[in-house]
Amino acid sequence: MKVRAQEVKSRIFELSGGHPALDLVNTLDWRFRDSGPEELLEDYADVVRFVEQTGLMNAMDARKLLRSASENKAAKVLVSVRDLREAAAELLYAAVDGKSPSSSALKRLEEFFASAREQQKLRWDGEKLEWALPQASSFPSFPLWLLSLNTETLITSEQMPLLRECGNAECRWLFIDTSKNHTRRWCDMKICGNRMKARRFKAQHRD
Ligand SMILES: [Zn+2]
Repeated sequence: MKVRAQEVKSRIFELSGGHPALDLVNTLDWRFRDSGPEELLEDYADVVRFVEQTGLMNAMDARKLLRSASENKAAKVLVSVRDLREAAAELLYAAVDGKSPSSSALKRLEEFFASAREQQKLRWDGEKLEWALPQASSFPSFPLWLLSLNTETLITSEQMPLLRECGNAECRWLFIDTSKNHTRRWCDMKICGNRMKARRFKAQHRD
């Protein structure tokens, strides 16, 4: 388990993807493990905590949002965030494998991006115009819109050729490889790197 969760309240996400959209995909942990993955977004509070920890939302807005969202609405947003994540995962893993994404993944992403864009309003920030989302705390879907727009930003960006996956076949966490010679192999050296090194060492010294 990659998350230090002494208690669910203080779940701390490991943000090693280099982009919130990749960290989101990585919240289905051990996605390729034989015994099944581990869900790190267990409830709406996890979604809000995740968005706050990625720096996309401030702590005050996060608290207000958690207080104001109805149970029913929160449950729906959780389902949508997971749907967005899985559509993004389908496209991104196809991309790292050098394949084209399925048209169904594209269609689902298009819907998420379009409905988030619909919420944006033009705002004068003092120097220039910008597209901005409405005030966070009054909209339970705010984390979904933020994550949709961030996913769109990454997938349509020049960073995509630097998309890589962790070399541990059960992990395959995604990251943007910004290392100098583009030689990064692990989500985290401490988590997967050392374990894989130990495994190789054992294999080489079996006889
Ligand atoms: Zn890994």
